[in-house]
Amino acid sequence: MARLFHYKVVNNAFGDPCVFIKLLREKRALLLDLGDIRKIPFSEILKVSHIFVTHTHIDHFIGFDQVIRAILRRTEPLKIYGPENIIECINGKLRGYTWNLVSDYPIEIEAYAIKEDKVEAAKFVASRRFELEKIADLPFHKNLIIEEPLFRVRALVLSHGIPVIAYSIEEDFHININKVELERAGLQIGPWLGELKKQIKANYSYHPLKILKKKSENSVEIETPKGKMNIEELFPILKITKGEKISYVMDVSPTRDNIDKIIEFVRDSDILFCEAYFLSKDKDRALERNHLTAQITGEIAREAKVGELKILHISPKYINNPEEVYREVELSRHFHLKQNL
Ligand SMILES: [Zn+2]
Ligand SMILES: [Zn+2]
Repeated sequence: MARLFHYKVVNNAFGDPCVFIKLLREKRALLLDLGDIRKIPFSEILKVSHIFVTHTHIDHFIGFDQVIRAILRRTEPLKIYGPENIIECINGKLRGYTWNLVSDYPIEIEAYAIKEDKVEAAKFVASRRFELEKIADLPFHKNLIIEEPLFRVRALVLSHGIPVIAYSIEEDFHININKVELERAGLQIGPWLGELKKQIKANYSYHPLKILKKKSENSVEIETPKGKMNIEELFPILKITKGEKISYVMDVSPTRDNIDKIIEFVRDSDILFCEAYFLSKDKDRALERNHLTAQITGEIAREAKVGELKILHISPKYINNPEEVYREVELSRHFHLKQNL
């Protein structure tokens, strides 16, 4: 099955957490967190359309300068989402440089600060020397921050001593072509199939039991090698499956309230990227530094029935014994350990 999301973990578990996600056939990419991104080639940074920042501690935000350097001459805007202070932090970064030579550059940066009940927005335009300009707030319903035909993104406000945001990126549904049925219908592979998929995503929503539900009454036609056809006549050549869900959770206080919220939020994720910063024997330190323990991360993955769990952020304290951290995660993932918080 051709997957929409192709991700790359940028650094190892002791480096800054950061995940680069390329979208199949879209010539664009998403970035989760903005720490040390020196390993991402310039040409790949150029493709990034959205960046999702968990919080602005330096290990999650130092890469901002490299991004702005890469996209300075780009025409497509860059959208950055983050916690309540993200607009202030981007403004602070931009004010650190002199911008008298960019007046004919087209780039615009949009910044979205996610709060409990709304998303505050601002933009910074190169031609106006990246001065902060407030734009209208966005509503924040059902944790939804982005809804596109291809995917949707949700955000959850949690606590890390400061507000921190967890994200989930979900493909609406996945469309594959059944080659046998395609041939049986006397049709051939071609670019029209890409258009077919696009039209289905725009006009139908996914329902359990693999049924597509029409969003409006209008019938949709599409040009095929056999001429114009109603989209629904082509349903026999499709294989519809549930889309992929990727979740990302970093730097969260190990409180029951946070843990319960995370379990609900990441439920049934195909992939969960999560920190496992401390061992549970150092839980006092975990509480003091507002990080999850390996045991809690394992519990979250187990309770939320996560497919694959990727550990990204481990304290340098365990640089010589990371296997202990992975072992604790795995144990807790498969067995209900006594909660020792
Ligand atoms: Zn932090
Ligand atoms: Zn961190």
